[in-house]
Amino acid sequence: MTNSNYDKNNIFAKIIRKEAKANIVFENKHILCFKDIFPKAPVHILIIPKGQFKDIFDFSINATSEEKKAIYDGFAEVIKIFGLELDGCRIINNFGNDGRQEVPHLHFHLLGGKDIGSMIS
Ligand code: AMP
Repeated sequence: MTNSNYDKNNIFAKIIRKEAKANIVFENKHILCFKDIFPKAPVHILIIPKGQFKDIFDFSINATSEEKKAIYDGFAEVIKIFGLELDGCRIINNFGNDGRQEVPHLHFHLLGGKDIGSMIS
């Protein structure tokens, strides 16, 4: 589904269209997983849907069950790729102004490879 409020020129939309470069670690029909350019941990991967969803609220309302499942499958893929099954990681989604979301395309941060620390400092 196309969201009329979606900004098609945001950087992640350009990465999906392959107009901008990214260090992609996993990709399938519904999702793209790539390295954050300013990593906050040894492993810092962004997991995004390929559909045009501006945030988690938009996605929760408008995504299909298949698109939603693909995000969880993506978490599992990235956890396996980086061998985080035993040590764990943190998965964060920032939503809107109060959540300090910067890029207006839904993305999940997966952070690991060290103790990530307390959740809110
Ligand atoms: P957020 O504050 O949740 O919107 O986070 C946006 C994240 O996207 C930040 O961690 C940025 O470092 C990251 N980011 C922005 N542009 C790029 C890019 N071109 N490639 C990879 N990561 C990016």
